Amino acid sequence: MAASAVKVNKKGALRLRRGHPWVFKSDVVSDAGAGAGPVTVVDERGQLLGTALHSPLSTIRLRLLSHERVNVNRALVLDRVSAALARRRLALPAADAYRAVHGEADHLPGIFVDRYGDGVTVQSTCAGADVLAPLVVDVLRELVSPRVIVVRNDAAARQHEKLRRYIEIAHGAPPTTVSYHEGALVLSTDLMADQKTGAYLDQSSNHVAAARYARGESLDCFTYHGGFALQLAAAGCSRVTAMDQSGEALARGRDNAERNRLAHIEWRQANVFDALPQLFAAGARYDVIVLDPPAFASTAKTLDAAGRAYKEINLRAMKLLRPGGTLVSCSCSGRLAAADFDAILADAARDTRHSVQVLERRGAGPDHPVLLGVPETEYLKCWI
Ligand code: SAH
Repeated sequence: MAASAVKVNKKGALRLRRGHPWVFKSDVVSDAGAGAGPVTVVDERGQLLGTALHSPLSTIRLRLLSHERVNVNRALVLDRVSAALARRRLALPAADAYRAVHGEADHLPGIFVDRYGDGVTVQSTCAGADVLAPLVVDVLRELVSPRVIVVRNDAAARQHEKLRRYIEIAHGAPPTTVSYHEGALVLSTDLMADQKTGAYLDQSSNHVAAARYARGESLDCFTYHGGFALQLAAAGCSRVTAMDQSGEALARGRDNAERNRLAHIEWRQANVFDALPQLFAAGARYDVIVLDPPAFASTAKTLDAAGRAYKEINLRAMKLLRPGGTLVSCSCSGRLAAADFDAILADAARDTRHSVQVLERRGAGPDHPVLLGVPETEYLKCWI
């Protein structure tokens, strides 16, 4: 692909030189004539800074691919996808479901690939990455030979750049429902119809970790397909309540439970904010409670409100725990720093007069690498 040159100011250049892959719109001096896709990046004196993906309408205007001048072609994509897959084989040798490419953190900015058994999803989140996506699909056919590849370009992020939002099959044919393993369980999901790219793979290792604390009665709030609930039920909870507001998500959870012969889960459709006080008033108490809400803080503006929402559910959950009970509390808001999440939980503990010990501060698994110096790649918190 031909590369035109984009000039960035001192601040942008410093950022790239320090290892962050992004240059914001405000730090671009000139990108006239550069379309979506690979560009050469230079500083104000014309010194080479590298090769980046250019997204003409994005606030994140440039996403660096290399500090050198490189040809952005199939060979480069093959190289990067192979390297990402090799890291998964080392870290998760037995897994048949994992995030195979995690955007910036796997040196393919804006590109997210998930594998579920014989199905694969490819997601591109910006105009620059859209240009690479067909190459990624092509390379995956060679490296993974999946039965079906689904393009999940329905992420809300695409709206900021007025990019078309769509889901389509890029290789193979229906059915798009796939089976995969998590711990000792066999799960299924529909890569075209279900939330995210089918499942919340970033929580996989946490589902299994939480199950170590399984005992007595448990409550899994924001359960989706039963991620935590199924593992808790399999690991020895006598009764599990799995709660979500989505009937479709619960239906899939029920199927998953049947398939794994886990009959002691009650699937309850409810708004968690309403249900927690109702359960408390009704005298329900639990030995294990999981809170895994959607990202309350999606923008900087919503951070305060998000903090109140996180506190609210955590406070309610603490009240519902039996003495010595286990709370698994998660936040996938990247804007909420780990220390702030601690502070919110401490606040809730103070209000409920609980002494709370942190046993584990977990993040996403090794298939969601964190790029050092790039805090945006570290978003998931799962505290036990
Ligand atoms: N715990 C799941 C992932 C949860 S994703 C796992 O580990 O796989 C967040 C879920 O919260 C979604 O399924 C969504 O339908 C649900 N949800 C969002 N707001 C909710 C609310 N107020 N009450 C109940 N469920 C809600």
